[in-house]
This record gives sequence, structure tokens and C-alpha cells, in this order.
Amino acid sequence: MNFREQLKEKKRIIIKIGSSSLTHPETGNLNLTKLEILVREISDLRNMGKDVVIVSSGAIAVGSSAVGFRGKPVDLASKQACAAIGQAKLMMIYQKLFAEYGHVAAQVLMTKNTITDPVSRENAHNTFQELLKLGAIPIVNENDTVSTYEIRFGDNDTLSALVASLIDADLLILLSDIDGLFTDDPHQNPDARFIDTVEELDDRLLQMGKSTSGSSVGTGGMSTKLTAAKIATTSGADMVIANGEDFHVIHKIVQGRSQGTLFVGKKDHSFSLVNYIRSEMTSGTAAGER
Ligand code: GLU
Repeated sequence: MNFREQLKEKKRIIIKIGSSSLTHPETGNLNLTKLEILVREISDLRNMGKDVVIVSSGAIAVGSSAVGFRGKPVDLASKQACAAIGQAKLMMIYQKLFAEYGHVAAQVLMTKNTITDPVSRENAHNTFQELLKLGAIPIVNENDTVSTYEIRFGDNDTLSALVASLIDADLLILLSDIDGLFTDDPHQNPDARFIDTVEELDDRLLQMGKSTSGSSVGTGGMSTKLTAAKIATTSGADMVIANGEDFHVIHKIVQGRSQGTLFVGKKDHSFSLVNYIRSEMTSGTAAGER
């Protein structure tokens, strides 16, 4: 069985959706047509008996457009206020759409402290297990309303990989406005070649992700996606980066078709989630505001 074929067997799947994949670029308003396809795709994964967790961005973008801002606000307090408004709106729509397919969504908001504090980490882990046992679909976001620099993940790419590690997921799918990994920045170099499968995520590849996706609505570029790939694959999960322009890509990935770039998981038993976040916090290299 090749690596793509093995994706058919995955049982616990995390799907991360970037803000740019959920909103209309011209207005920042939610793209309801796309959201409906997303919810149908995920409902069908549940119907196949798979555990599914969504890591959804979009709180700040949706809140900003709800209060009439053009683009995202710059100062932290406005962003946090927009997140509070937008997160509630986002969940209301997810709940409604999932209910149409007979499924139940659950909101899980996290900060770095949720992972570094042993009691919170254990509670979060147990809650995820229970939600999945109940057949609910957890929808995770950073708790932007209370997050400040020290306790922010900064981007949901990293958050989704940490959740994958926390709950022992076997597949993480990152959907964004990029097709996957290229040998160089395809916007600058017409000779850049697409990479279908990465079996070994070495330093050379990690360096290659320096350029960002160019999206003005999300916060993560290729570099944060490669960091996520490192965390996910080291935790034993496969990861696929694919374009979220058409959410039908989700079932194609799970059917083992060649979509996006696949990073093959290889568990490293010495990897510690807590040590990873602590070292990131002390070195100050956490993805912060952009
Ligand atoms: N947590 C932020 C939001 O929901 C987004 C972070 C990101 O886009 O990576 O708006």
C-alpha cells in the first residue's frame, strides 16, 4: 500500500480551515456556499464512522465584517472584541448547518496555557475524548478574547498540529489558499515544482517555507504550515496541505487521491508537546502578530 492509499484507513482526522477559505475576499463576509460544502463533507466523514475535529479560523474576520470594519483591525483590544462577536456568529452557523445533517457541533477554545498547564491539558484531553465518544464534532479556535502575546498560539496552523498531538489524531488536513509545497515560491519562480509527498521533513525543506501565502485575512504562511507538519508528523500523524478553494478536496484526500502535499507521519517518542511549547515561549519564536 502506498502512502496515499493509507489515508483511506485514517480514523481520527483534524481539519484546519483558514479565514481566507471561509470568507469572500471582497467583503470579508462568510462564504455560505463554501461553508455548506465543508459541513456536508465533514458530516459524511462522521457518517463513515471517523472522528473529526475542525480547527476553524475566521472569528476575527467574521466579527470585523459584522461591525463594519474594512479588513481586520490592528489593535489587540479591537481584534479581541471582533473575535468575541465573530466566534459566536461562526458557531451559530456551524451548529445550524451540522444540525441539518443530524450532527452536533461543540465549541472548544484554547490558549497555550491549556497545553502547558497539566490540569488544563488533562481536562482538554478528556473533554475531546468524551465529545468524540458522544459523536459530536469539536470546533476548535484560539481563545482570542483572553489571549495575549504570552498565551497565544498566534496562528491556527500550529494550534491544529498541537491538537492533533494532544488527541493522537492520525491525519491532519490543513486547508488554505495554497496548493501545497513547491520546490520554490511559485509566484516568483516559474520553474518551481510541486511536491506531492514528503517522507522526511528535513531542515532544508523547513528553510524553504520562509515565504508566506500572501493572504491578508489569515495569519499563517508556509513557514507555520511546515512547523505544523513537523509537530504533526513527529506525533505520528500524517499531514496534508491542500487548497481550500474547493472543500470537495476533503473526500478526495481521504479516498487516497493525489491532492495537495502529503507529509508522512513518523512518530518520535522523544517529542514532548509541553517542552515544545515551553521552548517556543522562552525563545520568543512563537508566531506572533503579523
Ligand atoms: N484565531 C483567529 C480567528 O479565528 C485566526 C488565527 C489564524 O488565522 O491563524 O480569527
